[in-house]
Amino acid sequence: MANDTSTETTERKGPGLDFIRSMVAEDLRTGKWKGRVATRFPPEPNGYLHIGHAKSLCLNFGIAKEFNGVCHIRFDDTNPLTEKQEYVDSIKQDVRWMGFDWGEHEYYASDYFDQLYEWAIKLIKDGKAYVDDLSAEEVSEQRGTIKQAGVESPHRNRSVEENLDLFERMRAGEFDEGTRVLRAKIDMASPNMLLRDPVMYRIIKASHYRTGDKWCIYPTYDYTHGQSDSLERITYSICTLEFEVHRPLYNWYIQALGIFPSEQTEFARLNLTYTVMSKRKFIALVEEGHVNGWDDPRMPTISGIRRRGYTPEAIRDFCGRIGVARAASMNQYEQLEHCIREDLNKRAPRVMAVLDPLKVVIENYPEGQVEEMEAVNNPEDPSAGSRMVPFSKTIYIEREDFMEDPPKKFFRLSPGAEVRLRYAYWIKCTDVVKDAEGNVIELRCTYDPETRGGNNPPDGRKVKATLHWVSAEHALDAEVRLYDRLFTKEDPNALEEGEDWRDYLNPESLVVIPGKVERHLAHVKPLDRFQFERKGYFCVDPDSKPGKLVFNRTVTLRDTWANVQKRND
Ligand code: ATP
Ligand code: MG
Repeated sequence: MANDTSTETTERKGPGLDFIRSMVAEDLRTGKWKGRVATRFPPEPNGYLHIGHAKSLCLNFGIAKEFNGVCHIRFDDTNPLTEKQEYVDSIKQDVRWMGFDWGEHEYYASDYFDQLYEWAIKLIKDGKAYVDDLSAEEVSEQRGTIKQAGVESPHRNRSVEENLDLFERMRAGEFDEGTRVLRAKIDMASPNMLLRDPVMYRIIKASHYRTGDKWCIYPTYDYTHGQSDSLERITYSICTLEFEVHRPLYNWYIQALGIFPSEQTEFARLNLTYTVMSKRKFIALVEEGHVNGWDDPRMPTISGIRRRGYTPEAIRDFCGRIGVARAASMNQYEQLEHCIREDLNKRAPRVMAVLDPLKVVIENYPEGQVEEMEAVNNPEDPSAGSRMVPFSKTIYIEREDFMEDPPKKFFRLSPGAEVRLRYAYWIKCTDVVKDAEGNVIELRCTYDPETRGGNNPPDGRKVKATLHWVSAEHALDAEVRLYDRLFTKEDPNALEEGEDWRDYLNPESLVVIPGKVERHLAHVKPLDRFQFERKGYFCVDPDSKPGKLVFNRTVTLRDTWANVQKRND
């Protein structure tokens, strides 16, 4: 798989620069903004950030850093019905965790409400805005269609005085919700529907999480965004492609007000296979109980991915690899997994954990004896050192490492066969113990004392398999949560008639099993990350407490999805 090549490089211009960075470099060369580079990340605090936002973060904060500029964080908080301080807090936490720092540049669109109101008065006075008494349904009916021009409202040509009076009374709370709006007077026949006298203010009699009950009229996104950029003297207002059609309106307000000419540039949003990326669907997943909250490790939210064990470095690496372009595209989930494997391979300490334990008694090993075996913490990182792992007469191995009637190519344990226990001894299976139903419940083995440390014996015997294990009396019990993709379909949004995206939820996206982990893990803390040898990368879940260890599987060691799918077919 082409993990290492960007799928979105087609529009890159300069060497190594995407089209937006090329533009910034060119502007710096020509002195267009007098050497200034100012970007912003403008989340609406109506939900948690997701991996798509990570792409936007990397782009906006990345450009600021690379070109010696600044990146603001601005909460685009114009809708009192959906926004909450809780979301502001989580967004700030997630942005910091991603490794980005806005310094003193923390702004809120709601702090601009007074200024926006004054500008609305100016537009009314300039004959560029009017109060309309039509209902929302009438406004949308009269807007026309792409083929057909809209109809001008009978209130469109009200006098400035009447507009000022009505707008002031809208603000004073004299009118009910939905009875009046303030509209920009642009062009009811424009081919761009957004320019057909767009709504600037609507009456919403609700408390805002920051401005309280000061306002009962609230500005729309379009009437707010460009002016907020302008107030902050943003040079590059970077947003996703769906805002392309909004750009003429963005420019119209800035020109009509004669304010700092921030410029909007669009790029393709991040889409990932095997998941969804919309707040509406996230809410459904959480509220319908398909996942256990916004930070469920299966969620593509930043908080979910963090809990899953991903590192900010891996996410940033992923965003760098997929690049920035204008062509809409779908990015492979495997590519994200590749990035986290690469990162964790370098830094996750190795430990032994048995996820489906099968008891093994080593008959010729002295009762009560314990030997401490030296185990390497990370073969990729010699500075990680080593640790001691206890070995004793009774151990656990992985159930799938034993077969009573093995096929020819099975080199692990079976009756009469010999294998190496990592860092310990070679053992040979001499007997199989079963319960009344015939299930294997225990193996009897012998060990060769000449193979201590897992070394080859002097007689030149060979083994083909090395198994991980834990000492039964020293092992710690753990709950292990095996996560897999949330959806079984590559694009759960591409549906046939009559299908629902929920039809493709993966019923095995979470499998909880009891495991046995080595003693070394007694003192872990939430989000510590490890490689369980031969099993994958795991991290400590925040549910974990002393005496009750809980681990999340971040990712398997290799891409096993192809096999899983085959099994399901
Ligand atoms: P959603 O569509 O999930 O509700 P949103 O676009 O409404 O997300 P905002 O809080 O408005 O979320 O987004 C903040 C910034 O992040 C915006 O600049 C937006 O363009 C960008 N962004 C949102 N989703 C993505 C994505 N999938 N890929 C890249 N950037 C994104
Ligand atoms: Mg939005």
